[in-house]
Amino acid sequence: MEEKKFSKDMSPGDFKTYGYKIVDWIADYFENIEKFPVTPSIKPGDIKKLLPASPPSSSQSMDEILKDIDNIIIPGMTHWNHPDFMAYFNSTSSSPGVLAEFLSAALNVNAMLWLTGPASVELERVTLNWLRQMVGIPDNFWGIIYDTASVSSFHAIAAAREQIPGLQIREKGIAGRNDILPFHLYCTDHTHSSIDKAAITLGIGIEGIRRIPVDKNFCMIPHELQRIITEDRQNGFLPFCAVATVGTTSTTSIDPVKEIGEICTAENIWLHVDAAYGGTAAMIPGMERIFNGIELADSIVINPHKWMFTPIDLSAFYTRKPQVLKRAFSLVAEYLKTEEDSETENLMDYGIQLGRRFRSLKLWFVIRYFGVEGIINILKEHLRLAKLFAQWIDAHPKFERIGLVNFGVVCFRLHPLEITSDDKLNELNEKLLNVINSTGKLLISHTKVGGKYIIRICISGLRTEERHVKQAWILIRKESERLLGSIKLA
Ligand SMILES: *Cc1c(COP(=O)(O)O)cnc(C)c1O
Repeated sequence: MEEKKFSKDMSPGDFKTYGYKIVDWIADYFENIEKFPVTPSIKPGDIKKLLPASPPSSSQSMDEILKDIDNIIIPGMTHWNHPDFMAYFNSTSSSPGVLAEFLSAALNVNAMLWLTGPASVELERVTLNWLRQMVGIPDNFWGIIYDTASVSSFHAIAAAREQIPGLQIREKGIAGRNDILPFHLYCTDHTHSSIDKAAITLGIGIEGIRRIPVDKNFCMIPHELQRIITEDRQNGFLPFCAVATVGTTSTTSIDPVKEIGEICTAENIWLHVDAAYGGTAAMIPGMERIFNGIELADSIVINPHKWMFTPIDLSAFYTRKPQVLKRAFSLVAEYLKTEEDSETENLMDYGIQLGRRFRSLKLWFVIRYFGVEGIINILKEHLRLAKLFAQWIDAHPKFERIGLVNFGVVCFRLHPLEITSDDKLNELNEKLLNVINSTGKLLISHTKVGGKYIIRICISGLRTEERHVKQAWILIRKESERLLGSIKLA
């Protein structure tokens, strides 16, 4: 190691040495990922115990730091990049995405203003236009990158509230006012909890959320939405926003955007489409229908960090009313005013955060490296594998499939015919999930729908192949048989 000088960054020579080491490390990690268990066999607090409680007062060598990556950090990892990670909506990162993150950290721009990050601001515009075209969102939609879908949806609902004329919420707030009717937001029991969080934060409150009934496939029933909005207006509430989900978190159901959009247009309420996971699939030829009526949406969120191999975090938010979003959030302090303000856009005007990192770089790398066709081919393979898995479930007498296979997720439960009580089945499936996950060979997750405990398998990892899905099915059957055997013995 070269001699360290007081208060200086690492020398270029050392940077190269350790940079190459880390690149080698990452390449080996991706190559050998299957050698790791998907989840670590540790308990809460185990990692913390291995680390000093106080910071080092003097400089430590990179060799020491890297050693702890292998010895302490990696044994405490849940490997989202693992091909057997099939829980939640998994997000996997790709090598081009990783390299872009590396560059982004080096450039370290804060693109709050055009002036402070011209290339970052303009690349964000270009890459979001690319993604918009890829998934078939019309060109009157303007986009911005936020960190997560939760934050994107928060901004959507803030804009929806700002759109209501004459309330002066920016100036007067909402506390203590008797001139505002209680807000109502419409979604379903299957809508993501981030919508509830936004409602809590924006003064809508949990009681301001109206859950519209769903059909047998867990999709919002449009005429129920219409009925409830009408009823609410009669009862002195203020309908202002509806959220339709394309790919719900539990069962990946798809709310009918077009019918909901027509109602929202007629009622003059903001329609936000949460397509955080499912939206990516709209780029697959033949899947455009999932965005049928998307032009009626006021805002849309899609997460390339979920199903487009972009390292977390990158959430793409689109709205055809950026001026309303800007009205909700723009506050320009004197020291942030620039000469270019009238000719360019300053992204700090469109949200809570001032500083913003160069996220578009990783989207640009991923789209260019794979190409649109390359991305579509990977997504199509995931859809094929999910359908295949669903066929296995359907053909097996002891398993029951729940919901439709719209994307890469299959919902199912172990359901031997002799067990009819939902409570017993819930207990059985919870046990099954726990034994499967504790093997470290597969990670799947669960949900509860209509009181039923349901197991979810999600096939959308970049490294997941047919052999992994087959192994997963073998493991699920084996553990099921074992579990049923032990019940009979008891
Ligand atoms: C994952 C997900 C979210 C939350 O995404 P974050 O980016 O983690 O905030 C919201 N809505 C839906 C439908 C999702 O699938």
